[in-house]
Amino acid sequence: MREPDFTKAEAASIRLLDRYGVDDPGFDILDLAYVLGVDVEYGGIENADAWLLRRRDGRGVIRLNSNIQEPARKRFSIAHEIGHWIMHPNLQQGFLCAAQDFQDYARSPEEAEANWFAATLLLPKSLLPKDQFNKDPCFEIVRKIAFQFQTSLTATARRYVELSKFSVILVSSTNGEIKWSIASKCARRLFLPWGGPLPDGSLTLESFKQGLARTSQNLILPEIWFPSRKWDRDAELFEQARYSAEYNNSLTLLWLP
Ligand SMILES: [Zn+2]
Repeated sequence: MREPDFTKAEAASIRLLDRYGVDDPGFDILDLAYVLGVDVEYGGIENADAWLLRRRDGRGVIRLNSNIQEPARKRFSIAHEIGHWIMHPNLQQGFLCAAQDFQDYARSPEEAEANWFAATLLLPKSLLPKDQFNKDPCFEIVRKIAFQFQTSLTATARRYVELSKFSVILVSSTNGEIKWSIASKCARRLFLPWGGPLPDGSLTLESFKQGLARTSQNLILPEIWFPSRKWDRDAELFEQARYSAEYNNSLTLLWLP
């Protein structure tokens, strides 16, 4: 399996934004799809979340499952399919994408590239508010950016952590099990095993057990999350969690000042 080409994906999204002079964070993704020759339709598919079809006349159709309700998720799904449209013209007639494909940055290079394209199209570096990246990392900043760019909390948090100059880690867990995590550049040395349980004593596990939608940012012992590392006595770790009962999913922001 080839490696996903993230540089190419980001270059493609930047080119597209430049070509159409997009400088508004909440730009209309349907308009963009339309000028690219792609129509967006809802419903009519059941066993996938989104579908891209190349028609013989050269136009395309993106079909979204009607179970995708939130505007931010619709937006990301459409951007993901536009990514396939632009980046994978020769691969196959159509793409069927499942919900998990929209979070996949590791299994399939095409899905990873479409996600990277979508994330950099909807949250382009050039439009992101630089002042927010100088403040102490927290979910309140992520929420503010998500509101402005009309993106989901997860997609925004992911982008925020990728671009952060602080030591931050984002953890996604479902039903108390760690699904994936990503770290900012200066926190890459801290590895969290995927598939394991949320650690005992973590705020995230507590909020999940109690069904608390949000926690404030709390100082905890770093060894709770990273027990195999040696920590100085004065080492600090801030943890903040967001829990969605609807998806039984938690997002955790870990910050080591
Ligand atoms: Zn896809």
